[in-house]
Amino acid sequence: MKISTPIEEFTLSRHYQQKLKRIGIKKVSDLIFHFPHRYEDFSKIIKIRDVKLNENCCLQGKILEIKSIRTWKKRMALTEAIIEDKTGAIKVVWFNQPYLAKNLKQGEKVCLAGKIMLGKGEIYLSNPAYEKIKLRASLTHTGRIIPVYPETRGVSSKWLRFVIKPLLMKFKDRMPETLPQEIITKEKLLPISKALWQIHFPDSMEIAKKALYRFQFEGLFLIQLFVLREKIKLAQEKAVSLQIDKDLLKKFTQSLPFQLTDAQKKVSWRILKDLEKQRPMNRLLEGDVGSGKTVVAVLAALNTVKNGFQAVFMAPTEILAKQHFQEFANLLKNFNLNIGLLTGKEDKIISRKLKNQVIEISRAKLLEKAKGEINPFTKKINVDVDILIGTHALIQDKVKFGKLALVILDEQHRFGVKQRAKLIQEPKEKIDKKQSSIRNSKIPHLLSMTATPIPRTLALTIYGDLDLSLIDELPKGRKKIITEIVSPDKRQEAYNFIRREIKKQRQVFVICPRIESPKIELNNNLVTEDKKNSNNIQYSILFNKNFSSWSEVKAVEQEYEKLTKEIFPELKIEKLHGKMTLKEKERIMREFKNKKIDILVSTSVIEVGIDVPNATVMLIEGTDRFGLAQLYQFRGRVGRSQHQSYCFLLTESPSLKTRKRLQALLTAKNSFQLAEKDLEIRGPGDFLGTKQWGIPDLAMSGLKNISLVKKTRKTAREILRQDPYLKNYSQLKERLKNFRNKVHLE
Ligand code: ADP
Ligand code: MG
Repeated sequence: MKISTPIEEFTLSRHYQQKLKRIGIKKVSDLIFHFPHRYEDFSKIIKIRDVKLNENCCLQGKILEIKSIRTWKKRMALTEAIIEDKTGAIKVVWFNQPYLAKNLKQGEKVCLAGKIMLGKGEIYLSNPAYEKIKLRASLTHTGRIIPVYPETRGVSSKWLRFVIKPLLMKFKDRMPETLPQEIITKEKLLPISKALWQIHFPDSMEIAKKALYRFQFEGLFLIQLFVLREKIKLAQEKAVSLQIDKDLLKKFTQSLPFQLTDAQKKVSWRILKDLEKQRPMNRLLEGDVGSGKTVVAVLAALNTVKNGFQAVFMAPTEILAKQHFQEFANLLKNFNLNIGLLTGKEDKIISRKLKNQVIEISRAKLLEKAKGEINPFTKKINVDVDILIGTHALIQDKVKFGKLALVILDEQHRFGVKQRAKLIQEPKEKIDKKQSSIRNSKIPHLLSMTATPIPRTLALTIYGDLDLSLIDELPKGRKKIITEIVSPDKRQEAYNFIRREIKKQRQVFVICPRIESPKIELNNNLVTEDKKNSNNIQYSILFNKNFSSWSEVKAVEQEYEKLTKEIFPELKIEKLHGKMTLKEKERIMREFKNKKIDILVSTSVIEVGIDVPNATVMLIEGTDRFGLAQLYQFRGRVGRSQHQSYCFLLTESPSLKTRKRLQALLTAKNSFQLAEKDLEIRGPGDFLGTKQWGIPDLAMSGLKNISLVKKTRKTAREILRQDPYLKNYSQLKERLKNFRNKVHLE
């Protein structure tokens, strides 16, 4: 057996093999690297005389008697035993483990670890882990600090300990060290063999922490190495140098209906300076919702086009793509540009030609125009679309640009060198010479924009290859959005308030976490039940498995019914969610924008970018179901005009954690503080959907630790400074390759 041996070749039943596969364990090394998420300290063995009610303890003693019984009422198999040590005896009860009485025999010495409970007037040890005592040092489940693994269907911690321990014994000393020795020495990290043993079966909690630290360090170090190398690689690529046309830009800013804020001017200049360089820009522009990022993008695109090149703008949804198309067309109406719109589901394409005319053309035609033609005499490419705006449909293989120099992404953070290169049409003779590698051609500059505040630790790791710019001021005259947490008994007041705002001709958003109330649904850790509330409206209650926290999950359909029938029968209310057709969604958005709808009840589809300045109230149901960054985005849908705006956060959850989070939304000075808070409270796993990136859990948990993040960054930098191609670090290089396959940061 080797560490690469697949689990099929183990002496495991098929049943277990399948279960392991389901949690991503395919070979020996996966088991060895399946780490516990916490520990239980059963290292101190106490005397039976000293046990305390409701406390965990570990006892050692002899079995005086043991028997199985079946309870009739609950149809449960019970195993009861009495064990004694020199100080006394105690009853032990196991539930639903009928085989126990065959396994453990009267007179045997055992070690038991569990909790002391009270039942029928006497105390007993409840459902303990047990182990027959041969040698104290060989204990796995009791009498030591025991590892508890993340709960997974049918694979218990006990079973994992039983399987992992012998593997560790066999392999720990044969595991090749995965970090360069110099780093281990310098950072005083545990070597791999020791760290592996101690993370599973620690001698003390201190050393468990040290073992964890080593793996966190390693995970973050790899991410750092990865992104810094990407940065170095990108710096070696070539891009078109775009000259700054000051007169043009002046004309543009003067044509705007407002004055740019200082922050907008500053970042615009940064971007223009980047575009002037011969190597590709890779810049992330962060700015609160409503801070005016679009106009910065328009300015950069305009300058690009006036240099004779094309710009492409990608939006996350079709509604937004259309909205941007209109805004670009509007802001650039005096500049004689051809602007195209290309979206996915809708097979209708509109190209805006000169003189404010919007013309529909076929997709094939539009693609042709974007790709352009090579003039046989001058060998230059002529294109017919200067700026193309669209959704993800823009990055299909068949979309090519003749003269692309700038890619702008809205609410999407990353776009690799390869993806950028793919968008460009290679001039014919180049392809003929088979010079199709990226090296020989230029790749476009990248500007990505986001309203999602990115905490410092993430900016230094996952986004470490991007240069950051920040719009840290809102246009003048915007009022602060008044935000309040509304407890269940104040709901009616919130509704009354809404009624008054609508009387003043304002409009309202209501956001719910789901489309429909789910019927009973059992999955891994959620038990959902339908229940009637006092208004006789169905809603569901989501129970955590341990019933410690619960929250009502308001659903769009139910909320819509309630609001139209009971609360506001006199108002025009509509609903919006992801299951509706694009046509319906667009009709509703249009009507809402045109003030034909008073209240829009929606799921999170409303999250990004939608611009309805007349809406002044944002009421969010089930706030505990959303991340702070997401709530922040929702709130940004209002406060887009001179009118005072309001955000009501409704929560039925009494949990302290929820309150703490929402409080952060009220008190945070800016979105960055908020992001740091979110990371602190919810952990990085939830943040920005980082779970989907495939980053190892341990590295993720290390992301909370800014000093560790900085240290790993410094270490990675030093390594790359001496050896940019990792010639002397073949193993690291190999791991980065795997890392690239596994992790998808884009
Ligand atoms: P976001 O950064 O969220 O994408 P937008 O670019 O959509 O923000 O801008 C929000 C609104 O503010 C738009 O209606 C836009 O025209 C307006 N706006 C942008 N910059 C300014 C400014 N400097 N002064 C006043 N209004 C502005
Ligand atoms: Mg925007």
